[in-house]
Amino acid sequence: MTETTARIIDGRVHAERLLTRVKTEVARLKTERGLQPGLAVVLVGDDPASQGYVKSKGEQSLAAGMHSVTHRLPADTRQEDLLRLVGELDVDPLIHGILVQLPLPKHLDESAVIAAISPDKDVDGLSVINAGRLVAGLPSLVACTPTGCLILLRETLGDLTGKRAVVVGRSLLVGKPIAQLLLAADCTVTMAHSRTVDLPSVCREADILVAAVGRPRMIRGDWIKPGACVIDVGINRVPFDNPEQAAAGKTKIVGDVHYKEALGVAGWITPAPGGVGPMTVAVLLQNTITAAKRQAGMVA
Ligand code: NDP
Repeated sequence: MTETTARIIDGRVHAERLLTRVKTEVARLKTERGLQPGLAVVLVGDDPASQGYVKSKGEQSLAAGMHSVTHRLPADTRQEDLLRLVGELDVDPLIHGILVQLPLPKHLDESAVIAAISPDKDVDGLSVINAGRLVAGLPSLVACTPTGCLILLRETLGDLTGKRAVVVGRSLLVGKPIAQLLLAADCTVTMAHSRTVDLPSVCREADILVAAVGRPRMIRGDWIKPGACVIDVGINRVPFDNPEQAAAGKTKIVGDVHYKEALGVAGWITPAPGGVGPMTVAVLLQNTITAAKRQAGMVA
C-alpha cells in the first residue's frame, strides 16, 4: 500500500472559519450602518447539481443574516424574460449581489446575461469588466472558486512568493482567474491546457499544482513533485468502483487528481468533495459583503 505523505486541506474547516467572519461582519454592518447585504440567486431549469448549489447558496446567505432571494425559472424561460429579471435585480437597492447559476439551458446566451449584471453587483466575478480589473490589478469582484483556492493556499503555505505554480485548465470561470491571483501573489505561473505538450513534465515542476480540468483522476501521482501543494478543483461524477454499486447506477464525486496516488507524493492536498467546493459559497457571501460596502461608498 502507498505510504501517505500528504496532509489534507480540509475545505470545510477553512470555509467555516470564513463563514464565521462573514456572519460577524454582516451583524456589524446591520448594527453600525443599517446595511444588510443582499444576494439574489437566479436558477433556470432543473439541473440537479445546480439545484443543490442554489439551495445551499440561499440557505447559507440566510444563515449569515443576509437578505436573500432565490428566483427559480422554468427551463424554457425566454432570453428577454431572464434579462428583464436581471435588470430588475440590478436596480433593486436591497440587492447588492446577483448570481445567475451556470450553465444556463442551451438556448440562452450566457454572455449576454452576465453582461446585463452591473460589474458592482457581479459577485461571481464573471463580467468582462471584473476579469479585466483583476488582470490590471484594480479592485474587482473575483470569481468565488479561484478566490477560495487562494485562501486555502495562503492559509496552508503562508507567503506564496517565488513559488512555481502550474494551473491545469484555462476557463474564464476557474483556470484564468486562479492564474491571475497566483501571479498577483508573486508566484511564477504556468497555465496548461488540452494542447500542452508533455503535461506530466509541466506538472512535475509545480510547488503549487491546481487542477481545474473536469476529467476524473486525470492527474496521476507520478505527475506530482514530491511535497507539492495540490489544489483539486474538479468535481466529476463517476460510477462507484464496487461493481455491484456501479451496476445499481450509484455514483460518487471524484476530483481531477488521482487522490489515492497523490496522497503518497504531495505535501498537501484538497480532497474532492470537501476541499475547494465548500469555499465557493463562503467566498460568494464575502463578495456580497464587499459589493454592499462598495455600493454604500464604504470601500474603494
Ligand atoms: P471547462 O470545461 O470550462 O475548462 C476545462 C479546462 O481544462 C479547459 O481549459 C481545457 O483546455 C482543459 N482541459 C481539458 N482536457 C484537458 C486535458 N486532457 N489536458 C489538459 N487540459 C485539459 O471547466 P471549468 O473550468 O468550468 O471546470 C473545471 C472543473 O472544476 C470541473 O470539474 C468543474 O466541475 C469544477 N468546478 C468546481 C467548482 C467548485 O466549486 N469546486 C466550481 C467550478 C468548477 P482547453 O481550453 O484547451 O479546452
